Amino acid sequence: MNKKSLNDIWVSGKKVLVRVDYNVPMDKEGNITDDTRIRATIPTLEFLLSKNAAVIIISHLGRPKGKVAPEFSLKPVAQKLSQLLYGREVQFAADCIGPEARSLSAALGAGQVLMLENLRFHAEEEKNDPEFAKQLAGLADILVNDAFGVSHRAHASVHGIAKYIPAISGFLMDKELLFLGQAVTDPVRPFVAIIGGAKVSDKIGVIENLLQKVDTLIIGGGMANTFLAAQGYKCGKSLVEADKLELAKNLITMAKSKGVSLLLPEDVVVADKFAADADRKTVPVDQIPAEWMALDIGPATAAKFAQSLQTAKTVVWNGPMGVFEFDAFAVGTEAVAKAVAASGAKSIVGGGDSVAALEKLKLAAQITHISTGGGASLEFLEGKELPGIAALADK
Ligand code: ADP
Ligand code: MG
Repeated sequence: MNKKSLNDIWVSGKKVLVRVDYNVPMDKEGNITDDTRIRATIPTLEFLLSKNAAVIIISHLGRPKGKVAPEFSLKPVAQKLSQLLYGREVQFAADCIGPEARSLSAALGAGQVLMLENLRFHAEEEKNDPEFAKQLAGLADILVNDAFGVSHRAHASVHGIAKYIPAISGFLMDKELLFLGQAVTDPVRPFVAIIGGAKVSDKIGVIENLLQKVDTLIIGGGMANTFLAAQGYKCGKSLVEADKLELAKNLITMAKSKGVSLLLPEDVVVADKFAADADRKTVPVDQIPAEWMALDIGPATAAKFAQSLQTAKTVVWNGPMGVFEFDAFAVGTEAVAKAVAASGAKSIVGGGDSVAALEKLKLAAQITHISTGGGASLEFLEGKELPGIAALADK
């Protein structure tokens, strides 16, 4: 991608705003239940501190909708960050702009850390308001963007701000750009994409773009039903998007014309209701009973998918193969995840539910790169230009 990163600029003695994605899950008492997102930014922060930069951290948390909402305060996150920085003090400003943020930033010395309150307490953040962006920019010399997960949005802290101070990529962003970028621009072949999840309508752009690039496209999950229905199979009560049958046919034709091998389920696990304890059985796709619904790929399909993954060198995966939330229908996703791991391919997984599925199955560590951005990774795979990435300075 050739974007300027931390090693390309002089940061010593500089005031550096670091845009992170500390949108961490919290329980009712405000305890952080998963600090992965905070940990993921530590390399960038430690680097800046070791170079004697003054570090000012900005983030959003939740959806306060442009108003101050105490339950979305970043204060507990500042405490957590302090622990993760081995007890280093993390100062806190109760507003991300205004006099307190200005005076604390101005007084911040080399190697010190300040966190500003939730950006989304101001509606101007999501509106990409130039005046708000300018006020944020006024606090520092440089912006480091480590928030890939919001970089598909033209928000002030990742987009507008770059008009006023240089924006560069942090180490976490570097990793996203490296793995996703290489997969879509210069993949080592064979390149296999696995697309699943609920609906084809969510992922049309991704499928269309990946069809230009992959050697094999595997389709599973709920969206596979629409492809099956498009080929004339009766899918019973399965999730089928009736208005997307033509589209599915076109995608099948497009795959043929591009020489992409398109793999669809041959058998499915059907259930008599959408429930964890549903009655279930495996059937070939031409024998789905009228009153039943397909909630997972079957074992023959999983074996076929696994075989096509054996020789893969690059794998991009978005969307689970079944309703993994119910253990009984997580089997196909697990088989495919194990096949991805066993292939030794460079593997890249994006998508909130896909990552949740891998974590549930305890297979996330087997993946080369788990993207930190669900929506952002999808837009990247669609070939779209992401505003927060476009705003980064070129090398
Ligand atoms: P991601 O968040 O990784 O992009 P999606 O949101 O597109 O993935 O899809 C995930 C959802 O798809 C899960 O909630 C899962 O239960 C659902 N799903 C997968 N297979 C099926 C199926 N056969 N029928 C209905 N829903 C399914
Ligand atoms: Mg999802």
